[in-house]
Amino acid sequence: MPVLVDIGCLYRCLDGGKQSDVHMLENAAVAWEDGIITWVGPQAGLPAQYAGALQHSAGGSPVIPGLVDCHTHLAFGGWRADEFELRSRGATYQEIARAGGGIRSTMRATRAAGEEELAGRAGRFLGRMLDLGVTTVEAKSGYGLTFDGELKLLSVYRRLAEVSPVQLVSTLLGAHVVPPEFEGDRGGYVTMICERMVPAAAQGLASFCDVFVEDGAFTADEARVIFEAGRAYGLRPKLHVDQLTDGAGGLLAAEVGAASADHLEYTSAEGMAAMAEAGVVAVTLPIASLYLRQPPMRARAFLDVGCDVAVATDFNPGSAPSYHLPWAMTLACTMNGMTPHEALKGATAVAARAIGMESVCGSVAVGKRADLVILEAESVNHWLYHAVPNAAQAVFVGGIRMGG
Ligand SMILES: [Zn+2]
Repeated sequence: MPVLVDIGCLYRCLDGGKQSDVHMLENAAVAWEDGIITWVGPQAGLPAQYAGALQHSAGGSPVIPGLVDCHTHLAFGGWRADEFELRSRGATYQEIARAGGGIRSTMRATRAAGEEELAGRAGRFLGRMLDLGVTTVEAKSGYGLTFDGELKLLSVYRRLAEVSPVQLVSTLLGAHVVPPEFEGDRGGYVTMICERMVPAAAQGLASFCDVFVEDGAFTADEARVIFEAGRAYGLRPKLHVDQLTDGAGGLLAAEVGAASADHLEYTSAEGMAAMAEAGVVAVTLPIASLYLRQPPMRARAFLDVGCDVAVATDFNPGSAPSYHLPWAMTLACTMNGMTPHEALKGATAVAARAIGMESVCGSVAVGKRADLVILEAESVNHWLYHAVPNAAQAVFVGGIRMGG
């Protein structure tokens, strides 16, 4: 029955309520058993049964729930630093994609890489994310774009889930772009996703099914067909929408009952209201907006109509080549108009809801995993404002202190 004591301020980030409400508790303590939180409260009220417990001290520092990165493309081959240079010279994402770069470039490198190599690389990324306080990560396929290629990526995630302390949630993103083999037969590729990829992914390899709806990717009607197949196999919908143009993605997300809709730089007021009404989580990916020089997603407007906003990295080798979630949170404040407290809840409780893990993690509450981060900062405001390379002093996953 270990206990974490001397917490200067505990940010509990409980489910529900306003996103700005992070449920601060001063001079707090947290106890757990077998990795699950059993007691939270003011340290002065710690029950006698914990008197002889193994004690960890936060030394008066702030403590937050383990961070949840609810949108990454964790396993991929190669990098695209050459495209970074092209974009810095003024080329657009769409121009690079039309010339055979972009997602298709990573597809070629990923197809050429073995499962071992992909797992080794993604495992190293996960280790660094954990150092930053990220204890749960959603990971998408989407760079194989063949039946075997997509299954290979999902198998990499299953292997990592078995060995990494970080909790992984996997998503089938067979509908990232149409691969070259199906250039003249989009319908054939959609059918392959529905009839082969979805049933295979549903055998314990993925929890969600995602579609990139955009010019140059998939249409709303194709997404509807894929989600119908996904639903029949228990895969919940997620969407990449309204990133480069307004594709009425907010309305589509509400219509299909998506767990989340992500990007949303161009979502209309009507789309925002529909998402709020349907309880779809809006996910902002400010690193991608920054790298592609998109107008920032209007998180403030989403929050004002009652739609919760999660913050994630979109870690991928093209548009968001960083897994630094705290940096994305700082950008959510400077670019998306969120407060530091809203960004914190967006990368914990709200992010957990975006990946269906709200009963497991994302808050410091009895019954949830003891995923905790001690911050080297005066407060959450100070942490996200000062933006040091890594402010995580100590990270606990399921009650185990990482790094000795
Ligand atoms: Zn993405």
